[in-house]
Amino acid sequence: MIASKSSFGLFPIRIFVKFNAFLDFTDDETGDTALHLAMARQNFRGAVELICAGADETKTNKKGETPYDLVDSKSESLVQNDVATQMVRENGTVCEKMTSRWFLIQLFTATITAIAMAAGLTVLYFTNFWVLLVGTVFCTILVIYFGQYVRVDQMAMLPVTYICYVGVVELAILIYDTDGLIHWSIMLLMCTIWAISASFYWILIFSNPGAKPRSTNPFPELIENVETHGIASYCFTCWIPKNPTSHHCSQCDKCVDGFDHHCPWIHKCVYRKNLRIFVLFCLTNFMFDVMYVPLLAYVVVMSLQRSGFEQTVADHGIMIISLGVSVFHAFGATAITFTQFSQISRHVTTIQTIKRTTTTAPTTTTVSADFEPWNHGPSMMTRVQNVWNLLLFDRFFAEPDDDYWTLSMTSSTRDQSTEVTSTKTG
Ligand SMILES: [Zn+2]
Ligand SMILES: [Zn+2]
Repeated sequence: MIASKSSFGLFPIRIFVKFNAFLDFTDDETGDTALHLAMARQNFRGAVELICAGADETKTNKKGETPYDLVDSKSESLVQNDVATQMVRENGTVCEKMTSRWFLIQLFTATITAIAMAAGLTVLYFTNFWVLLVGTVFCTILVIYFGQYVRVDQMAMLPVTYICYVGVVELAILIYDTDGLIHWSIMLLMCTIWAISASFYWILIFSNPGAKPRSTNPFPELIENVETHGIASYCFTCWIPKNPTSHHCSQCDKCVDGFDHHCPWIHKCVYRKNLRIFVLFCLTNFMFDVMYVPLLAYVVVMSLQRSGFEQTVADHGIMIISLGVSVFHAFGATAITFTQFSQISRHVTTIQTIKRTTTTAPTTTTVSADFEPWNHGPSMMTRVQNVWNLLLFDRFFAEPDDDYWTLSMTSSTRDQSTEVTSTKTG
């Protein structure tokens, strides 16, 4: 009850739940339960934990109020929504289900679609511009409509169809629709880059997700780790100790060692074992795009000069739509590639960058190794070396240390120091 009144978030409520605390215990004076107190203090995260653990939502206090009577209807639906999400998670993580069933079904559908598209494009390459435009708008509306009902992380078909789109539509346009304006050697180079990029994509799709197994015996292990080893850095979802590079991915709902970020395009975490392939995929994708957009623009401009606007639209309808789509794609690919390379050259991960923008940087008295790249920018030589080491030797993260305990202890001291500074300044 004290925890739900005065601590916000999962902890230590989750620990008490794991300890089999009696959740419906009532206060002698007011008749409030822990859930009443959490709601009254607007500790919604704590309330969700309690409800998921089986606390009685209908129990009334001495004034006859249920816990939900203590909050407005907006907060009530917020809590119920979170409870529903948490329940789905506990019945198996979304990613596990995706990889085994949904993802493969979607992969299969996308491949069939791609083959059909390729056949259609080869047989009757030219369709009316307006038919294509209506088709594109219809597909966009369809995606937005389904997007409302499907969680973003279940939209795995989007990236796969996108890869098919780039592979089939873009390559078909280059091969069939450029009126011989582009030299064959450039075509060959483009096709090669695409093939390499697509291979990296498939390797990423089937790479090991890198999730660490959850504790099968959480309770005694927690006691042992805290009492004997003094570990304070702990994941209270997986019930395992954390080391400085591991992070609990909210999408995969697992702890991942050497975490960089969760990528919705490959539907997996990017982490120490697939970071190199991911970076190479970004790079080749970027190379394809920065060649494709100017080449297409060149063909369109030449056609405009030669045969005027109306004839160009009639002749190169698909190409004009593709040019519009590819400009956005090229910007996106450029931004991702540059961000990734810039971070690698400074030897920081995406999660560290995100944490840095959400936490206040420590003052000189509490400099920690993690924040150093920003305080003293590495030299150009070091930056090149960092990129080199990853691309050539796959050396970015140090090999994981088996000795979790020492690692966890140093990380917990660091966490505390950052926390203290942020409260002081903020
Ligand atoms: Zn975890
Ligand atoms: Zn993930």
